[in-house]
Amino acid sequence: MSTIFSQIVEGEIPARIVYEDEATAAFLDANPLAPGHTLVVPKEEYERLNDVPDDVAQDLYATIHRLVPAVEDAVDADATSVAFNNGEAAGQEVPHVHCHIVPRFEGDGGGNTHTMIGKQIDLDDDELDEIAGEIESNA
Ligand code: AMP
Repeated sequence: MSTIFSQIVEGEIPARIVYEDEATAAFLDANPLAPGHTLVVPKEEYERLNDVPDDVAQDLYATIHRLVPAVEDAVDADATSVAFNNGEAAGQEVPHVHCHIVPRFEGDGGGNTHTMIGKQIDLDDDELDEIAGEIESNA
């Protein structure tokens, strides 16, 4: 069973496609958080960011890089929030990697990444060192 985004890419269900190339596509979100809210997807289905092969990741970034100014200019936005919900626990509902480009306007009342969870945690230096070391050795 293919994802709803694959069905859009295949033309099986309608969407307002604003860009496509061999590897990627972009279309308006059906439930926009702001005018111009756009989703960018790889045409192939990958569930999470880390499933995307390097070459497709480059194509995906190139499309995001292209679409951010296109979206901002189209709706005269002051800025954009650009985000992936990467995994179910992070709120990803469609298991097909997609980047949200959400136009932002001065005084729109929206938050930033710091408001995703709503509270900051306290970690001491030892904990920070250990976490940094783990990430460094995994990278
Ligand atoms: P996420 O929570 O990151 O998985 O976001 C999924 C997004 O897909 C939501 O913002 C939905 O509004 C959007 N969406 C779901 N179905 C469609 C569709 N048929 N066409 C366009 N956007 C869709």
